[in-house]
Amino acid sequence: MIRRTSRRLPAQRESEISDLAEAVAVNCLGRIDPLRIARSLGITTSFGDYGNAFDGMLEAAAGKFHIFCNLNRVETRDSPRARFTLAHELGHYYIDEHRCALLSGRAPSHPSFCDYSSPHLVEVEADSFASALLMPWSRFRSAAVQAKRGLPGIVELASFFQASVTATALRYLQADLFPCVVVKWDASGYCWKRLSQSAYATGLRKTVERLDRLPRDCPTSRVLRQGAGLAEAGTTKAAWFPFVSSASESNSIFLEQAISLGRFGVLTFLFPA
Ligand SMILES: [Zn+2]
Repeated sequence: MIRRTSRRLPAQRESEISDLAEAVAVNCLGRIDPLRIARSLGITTSFGDYGNAFDGMLEAAAGKFHIFCNLNRVETRDSPRARFTLAHELGHYYIDEHRCALLSGRAPSHPSFCDYSSPHLVEVEADSFASALLMPWSRFRSAAVQAKRGLPGIVELASFFQASVTATALRYLQADLFPCVVVKWDASGYCWKRLSQSAYATGLRKTVERLDRLPRDCPTSRVLRQGAGLAEAGTTKAAWFPFVSSASESNSIFLEQAISLGRFGVLTFLFPA
């Protein structure tokens, strides 16, 4: 389970959604192809430029479903972001409550943004489905154990599963191989953070949440300025977790890794060295 600081799913619900997605994934040989899954369900798709209105949207009309996918934000039909978007919309289809609400008209079609920023429960549920579909647990965990530690390993896993770096980093947190924290930033500042279960248990809950509190030459600041690349440097627990004073015995050496997400900002990955 990932500890969120924003709205999170109860463990039971997360497990149900994961089981639902894995039951779909188990019928797919090789790389999971959400577009093929949509076609097999008779769900039609449109790829177009819809400005910044959404990443994806599932529409129901006359008992049929259609997915709109925004090339302006996902770039290509087969990009990791497009795959996550399609998988997220499939989540709205497969999760009974979402599908029934759409079909009955109780819930209108809504724009989905697949960057884990939404606090809305239905979006968190669809994100959870997408993650479990694209990175089935049994395949993911064994690959994560063998991957390099931290962001370099997450980049390898993202490439293997053809998933976005952000989605892969959050799946990696779920594996909880060691205490780790992911913080998402964009040019305007802090967006959100997620903690692995063991990071939460050891009290690594409050992080720096302002760009102007970060050293100018730290990996996060540098990568955000450059708009590209991956950087890594040693840091201290006290530098990132304000409740730890630099003189305290609980202060220790951490690694700070940061990777550019292009126009979508930067991801920071923190863990004890
Ligand atoms: Zn959605």
